[in-house]
Amino acid sequence: KLFNEIQDLKGNIRVYCRIRPFLPGPREKRTSVEHVGENGELVVADRSKPGKEGHRLFKFNKVFGSDATQAEVYSDTQPLIRSVLDGYNVCIFAYGQTGSGKTYTMTGPNSSTKENWGVNYRALNDLFDISQRRKSSITYEIGVQMVEIYNEQVRDLLSGDAVPDASMHPVKSTSDVIQLMGLGLKNRVVSATALNERSSRSHSVVTVHVRGTDLKTGSALIGNLHLVDLAGSERVDRSEVIGDRLKEAQHINKSLSALGDVIFALSQKSSHVPYRNSKLTQVLQSSLGGQAKTLMFVQLNPETSSYSESLSTLKFAERVA
Ligand code: ADP
Ligand code: MG
Repeated sequence: KLFNEIQDLKGNIRVYCRIRPFLPGPREKRTSVEHVGENGELVVADRSKPGKEGHRLFKFNKVFGSDATQAEVYSDTQPLIRSVLDGYNVCIFAYGQTGSGKTYTMTGPNSSTKENWGVNYRALNDLFDISQRRKSSITYEIGVQMVEIYNEQVRDLLSGDAVPDASMHPVKSTSDVIQLMGLGLKNRVVSATALNERSSRSHSVVTVHVRGTDLKTGSALIGNLHLVDLAGSERVDRSEVIGDRLKEAQHINKSLSALGDVIFALSQKSSHVPYRNSKLTQVLQSSLGGQAKTLMFVQLNPETSSYSESLSTLKFAERVA
């Protein structure tokens, strides 16, 4: 089938696709990305088939080609961030195989220059900016939590403990956030030394709580924002992994499919939404469904050799949107 429509998005779920550029160095430079359209069309090609035979068309709310800047990607995300200050819950997450640019989109390669900033830093920066502008009528308090979900266990990245309730840290400026997230990322890396590259096999969740108090009426507005860098979605060959690696792979599979099931149920306006099936969906529950707004970044590797992983990523996106 040539046509895979994901355009007719129901409710509050949007899907943006982003293609990573080729990385420097002596690597494969053949791409499976055939066409990036202005209106969210994406054509990928199975190069083992001749001509147009291997082409498949997908449609998203937006497709960012490999030359899209962090600022361009964020400009289409910004309206969601504003709505957090109006009392909406928002969930933004990046899905894709390891190396497809999830962390680049959510956090950025580093926080040292503003151009590099990913969605996380830009979102917080905007929350502070807008709350400043509203300060004559509303006072906002903003707090941040950061956890990692690994093998169905939640670990607080800002206190180093495995506790049921992650510590909440009040923040007043973007530099507070950069400092805190830096600590969280460091804690994530510390535990990664034993288990090689753990970050690609755990989900990281930044939760931003916003509470606005109307100075005239005293009434409160509460919104929260979840920013999620998911574990790599690549399928692990069961014949090749054993022990801990197999367990990790099974937990990742289970939680990503639970996330898919929740969003699918929401997109179908189903009366039963299966939040309880994984830690990930439990943690995100308040920002999935109801009045909440969800944005999924579908991240793709451009290389021909990643075609089958890209296709499975695209199929996941197609189902939930
Ligand atoms: P993931 O988190 O999905 O495993 P990363 O975000 O770590 O992937 O990206 C893999 C590599 O590709 C990193 O070196 C990253 O800096 C680079 N990269 C990803 N996306 C981009 C982009 N849009 N522009 C430039 N480099 C990118
Ligand atoms: Mg990553």
